[in-house]
Amino acid sequence: MDSRHTRQQFLRQCSALGLGAVFGREALALDSQSSKGKVVIIGAGAAGLTAGFWLNRMGIEVQILEASDRIGGRLRKLEGFADYPIDLGGEWIHTHPRILEKITSGHQSRALPDTIKYEIDAYRQWTGHKWKSYSAKRIFPTDYKFVRSTWADFLATYLVPPISDSISLNTAVAKIAYGNSSESKVVIKTVSGAEIEADAVLVTASLAVLKSGIIQFDPVLPADKQNAIRKGTMPGGLKAFFKFSEKFFPLGFGLAKYDDREAGDIYYYDPGFGQDSDQAILGLFAYGKVAEPLLQMSSDQVKRHVLGELDGVFSGAASRGYQAHVVQNWQREPFVRGAYSDRLTRSIIKALARPLAEQVYFAGEAIPKDRANWGYAHGAALSGADAATQIARVLG
Ligand SMILES: Cc1cc2nc3c(=O)[nH]c(=O)nc-3n(C[C@H](O)[C@H](O)[C@H](O)COP(=O)(O)OP(=O)(O)OC[C@H]3O[C@@H](n4cnc5c(N)ncnc54)[C@H](O)[C@@H]3O)c2cc1C
Repeated sequence: MDSRHTRQQFLRQCSALGLGAVFGREALALDSQSSKGKVVIIGAGAAGLTAGFWLNRMGIEVQILEASDRIGGRLRKLEGFADYPIDLGGEWIHTHPRILEKITSGHQSRALPDTIKYEIDAYRQWTGHKWKSYSAKRIFPTDYKFVRSTWADFLATYLVPPISDSISLNTAVAKIAYGNSSESKVVIKTVSGAEIEADAVLVTASLAVLKSGIIQFDPVLPADKQNAIRKGTMPGGLKAFFKFSEKFFPLGFGLAKYDDREAGDIYYYDPGFGQDSDQAILGLFAYGKVAEPLLQMSSDQVKRHVLGELDGVFSGAASRGYQAHVVQNWQREPFVRGAYSDRLTRSIIKALARPLAEQVYFAGEAIPKDRANWGYAHGAALSGADAATQIARVLG
């Protein structure tokens, strides 16, 4: 299909969907330009796949290099543990689900997945001797969940099909050489020594991966970006799921005794909410400083710790009914190295986002276009869409 025609259709539909407010001004400016160039995207998570989808729709060649052996990044599906799929990473949609249509720019090949508003009667906190109830509406004011589906399914179903041939798994990037002259290409070197030339590269690796220095830049990153990478924080986090013979627990509760919410969060929840399942599955989410002891534990140690604290509150019901468990420790994933960025200041976000020499672009959850989406899967996806729009304008 003629790529220019495709791009014009795409931009018209962006406009019809009201995406003008988000991307439209830049996107519509592309309408009169012809497509050229190749973009390498580092990372096949929410940001990288959305950027690939958008660039592809605009007729721009993309190649997505993914270090791990699967797509999705921090969006990962656990199958076979429960009679419904479970999200091991990002799970809730923390806004109205019509955001999904923005991510696909209205180009979904089928109806959007079913979602349900996350409405539990109360969130309970164990004080040491009794439960204290909080309004769940205040804690989860705008949250939705996929029904019998996951964020990983959303990526695989709606974004991947047109770009599946452009994704290379097990391909970790070690170095990016950029900006040698205005005519020169950016050169991306993989860990195995392959060199790939492109007109632009989009880096979607997490803030913690950027901190680790496993991707080298030549020349080195400018001082403001190095400072932003150093100052921005990305705490660790994990999720664990426990299967029991019967449900002895309420829908959402916390047992940890700590006062400082800034230090992170640990809570238990029922991942089966809205999934039409009777199974007794309990989810544990732990993030930040308060999660650190758990992050150091082996899977078996997490099990013993969790059963111990649940038994103390639910009179031994946890150990009596325990059947199986799974732990996903995101800090131990070598190409993620944490959960998600801590609330970053505007100046850090701006410095992280700034492109280099119109060749090296950045996207991901730490660089949301709109700070209301900070840290979220939809924030990551929309930052990928925004970067794609910027790149297309420059390559035009
Ligand atoms: C425990 C937990 C719970 C969460 N809960 C929610 C939630 O309920 N709702 C929500 O909206 N969000 C949630 N999030 C956040 C959400 O998962 C992330 O914001 C989002 O998935 C980040 O996407 P991304 O594309 O920015 O980064 P990533 O998903 O990290 O993708 C980056 C990709 O780059 C790859 N990569 C890294 N380095 C290299 C390299 N050198 N070469 C090649 N590839 C590389 C990585 O392997 C990865 O696949 C949660 C996250 C965690 C960890």
